[in-house]
Amino acid sequence: MTESNLDLPEDNPCAFCDYLSGRRPFTILCRSTLVAVLVTRDQRGIGHLLVIPTRHYPTLLEATAEERHALIDTLAAAAAAIDDRYERPGIAIWQNNGTAAHQAIGHLHFHVAGTLPGGGTDFGEVPELSIAQTDQIARELSESHKLPICER
Ligand SMILES: [Zn+2]
Repeated sequence: MTESNLDLPEDNPCAFCDYLSGRRPFTILCRSTLVAVLVTRDQRGIGHLLVIPTRHYPTLLEATAEERHALIDTLAAAAAAIDDRYERPGIAIWQNNGTAAHQAIGHLHFHVAGTLPGGGTDFGEVPELSIAQTDQIARELSESHKLPICER
């Protein structure tokens, strides 16, 4: 595989791989062979999740077709769960490739977040939630009656 032209964040070890392996505590809502859904401690919307591949690679450009398909299915299911549980008027999904696009962690990740009162999501300073608080968000979303989030 040829390298992309993107400037990538330097993060060794990778925070997301540490979360998936359990080396560092973090709320994992669910995972399958190909994808995992994390509850970020930086909640920029209402029900802000991170959908990531379980395999480590930096950007969308390295994803296989099978991974891309699992990611979009999981994104749709995560959005459906946020809709079901939090009943927001908008749901934002965003993903950044390269530091010039404000990618901060060098492991592909998509953000999914219900919009805030007044609209949009918060890209400024947000309080860092405790693991107990993000575990609570995971419990709330796990009670959704929509699609299972980590089916694939
Ligand atoms: Zn990683």
